[in-house]
Order: sequence, then structure tokens, then C-alpha cells
Amino acid sequence: MKLIEVTGGEFTLNNILTGYLSGANAATVNMGFSRQTAVLLAPNFFSQSHPETTLVHEIVFHGYAAQIDDNVFGNAYFTTKGLWRPANSTATTNISTWMGTDCTCTPGNPAVQSCPTNTANWLK
Ligand SMILES: [Zn+2]
Repeated sequence: MKLIEVTGGEFTLNNILTGYLSGANAATVNMGFSRQTAVLLAPNFFSQSHPETTLVHEIVFHGYAAQIDDNVFGNAYFTTKGLWRPANSTATTNISTWMGTDCTCTPGNPAVQSCPTNTANWLK
């Protein structure tokens, strides 16, 4: 299947879905609530621990708000709510793990004394 098919013809690059994922667990194509957005998931996506944090990340920030990860990490309000990106990191999983704490802290942040993973009420 190709990107043009899952975006109602709006995303015209003729890539196949697996090529667009390029080894990633998930990706969102043709971002924005007014568009025909597709959230692509790797075949084993739901086998990981708490895949819903990544799914909500893709749907809310990319599918609905049309924000790229750099904009999410650069949002000053989110920073005050505990979102943290390691220096020089291009990893985006911290957005998902932060959401998994109800946006209170980012697990793994050395500046935070305790930030257990997957504590959000919506994960229980
Ligand atoms: Zn993202």
C-alpha cells in the first residue's frame, strides 16, 4: 500500500508505507486535523509496553495539531510541565514517556529525583 492511498490522495509522494516508516515504530503522514492524515504503525506496534502513549503522541501532536517533534520539545509550557529532551538527542520517545506520566515529568531526566514510567491514570 502507498502513502497516496492512505491519505486520500493528498500526500502525493508515491512511497510505500514500510518505506516511509523506515524502521520507526510509528509515523504520521499528512499532518493536521483538516487533512486526510494517516498514522502508520509497525507490524509489532501493539506488542510493546504501553503502545497507547506513542499512539496518543502521534494522533494529538502530529495528526491533530500538525506539530513536529522539535516544536513539541521546544514548547516552553510543556517544558514547565516536565518535558525534557536530552542534549543533542534526536529521539522522540521522551514525548511519549512524558505523556505516560500525565505530563508531569520525563522518565530518565537526571534533574528529576523520581519519575516512574507509565503512571498516568489513563494507562491503568
Ligand atoms: Zn513525534
